[in-house]
Amino acid sequence: MTNSSVVDVAIVGAGAAGLGAARTLAALGKSFVLLEASHRIGGRGYTEEILPGVPFDLGCHWMHSASLNPLVKFADAFGLTYTKDGYERGIFANDTWGTDEDLTAMGRFYDCQNDKMQEIAAGGGDCSVLEATERENRWTPFFDYFCSLDFSSDVDQVSVADMVAYHDTDENWPLKDGYGTLLSRLGAGTPVSLNCAVRAIDWSGRNVVLETAKGTVTAGRVLLTVSNGILAAGDIRFTPDLPDWKHQAVAGLPIGNYNRIGLAFDRDVFDPDAPFGFITDVVDDVPMALSIRPFGFNYVVAITSGRFADWLERAGQQASIDYVEKKLQAVFGADITKHRSASIVTAWGGDPWVRGAYSAARPGQAHQRARLAEPLDDRLHFAGEATSSDFYATAHGAYLSGISAVEAMA
Ligand SMILES: Cc1cc2nc3c(=O)[nH]c(=O)nc-3n(C[C@H](O)[C@H](O)[C@H](O)COP(=O)(O)OP(=O)(O)OC[C@H]3O[C@@H](n4cnc5c(N)ncnc54)[C@H](O)[C@@H]3O)c2cc1C
Repeated sequence: MTNSSVVDVAIVGAGAAGLGAARTLAALGKSFVLLEASHRIGGRGYTEEILPGVPFDLGCHWMHSASLNPLVKFADAFGLTYTKDGYERGIFANDTWGTDEDLTAMGRFYDCQNDKMQEIAAGGGDCSVLEATERENRWTPFFDYFCSLDFSSDVDQVSVADMVAYHDTDENWPLKDGYGTLLSRLGAGTPVSLNCAVRAIDWSGRNVVLETAKGTVTAGRVLLTVSNGILAAGDIRFTPDLPDWKHQAVAGLPIGNYNRIGLAFDRDVFDPDAPFGFITDVVDDVPMALSIRPFGFNYVVAITSGRFADWLERAGQQASIDYVEKKLQAVFGADITKHRSASIVTAWGGDPWVRGAYSAARPGQAHQRARLAEPLDDRLHFAGEATSSDFYATAHGAYLSGISAVEAMA
């Protein structure tokens, strides 16, 4: 890696943001290096197989706000399969499937809470989602759980202003082949240095000098796309240190946790009438969303988020499998587990190159996304999902932020 020549831009991180930036720099004819700490590209977009030939996303899976999502056109160009069905919301509570009236009541409760939050934000105020919403309703725990999925943090830790700023078009399209597959195809032609963690960045001189696991790189500018978990942990040493306002921006947008637990079965073990996606609070009153038979495959994906995800992740993979199996048994019968044939349990909180799932603005801190995106001295530039004010916590928001950062440099 050590090279006496100076590249125009050194990009740190080959996730969606880094790949978007690299493609844009290549199109502009600029020289760049793409430095990735792990053994693969894609970052929080990564697809494995839960069974031979059956893709399973460990990270992002849904193409959110699809009509505004620039990655959809790549899914089309690569011939990947996706559906436009979006989420299906069933309920299994009190040992039975919820009725249409229950679904309507839950939907009405959500709308009402969203209206309250819109009102607070429109008046220029901010507080936590917990403070803004009704606490004593039958649907409150379900609402809180869905909110924690959006932010990978719990409702007391999430800013209403940030929540309202998200540009949701209600089009959420899942990819059969995996979102990770899309990102790896997107980056296939891009030169990248893998296993090349950046340890230190010296931006005291005219050029920026990066100390990496494979030697030293000198660049006119650096684009940092690492997660806020990495920045907050101080995994990269800066000389001089980042200014206080930048540290405050990082601290105002901490990364939470969100895990996907996949259990595959050797046959279709689910109730034939069960909805594809449903939420249940069986066994312990803790809500959990499950998707069954995605794209017709015999597996289930269960989602944990926020503090509960942290707790279950620490309890371990077997504890996570046992936990989901107990919920499934309560819905589909005890025999279901006899047919389990494979599993995948993610552990994003423990991922050394992310340290969590995605960012959530703390109450009063929504403005920090724009601050985080601000460059320093036109030499240190910032991108990544946490810098997006309207598409944070998404793959396309990260991708767009990488492009914007390069356009700002140009
Ligand atoms: C479980 C889960 C489910 C999700 N579901 C969805 C979804 O359905 N739809 C959606 O749109 N989004 C979803 N997201 C969010 C989405 O995946 C992320 O917002 C997006 O992928 C982030 O991209 P990024 O480029 O900002 O960061 P990253 O993907 O984290 O990329 C940063 C890269 O930097 C590398 N790196 C870290 N430290 C260093 C270092 N010192 N030196 C060099 N490289 C380093 C990392 O290895 C990583 O590859 C989900 C995320 C998770 C975790």
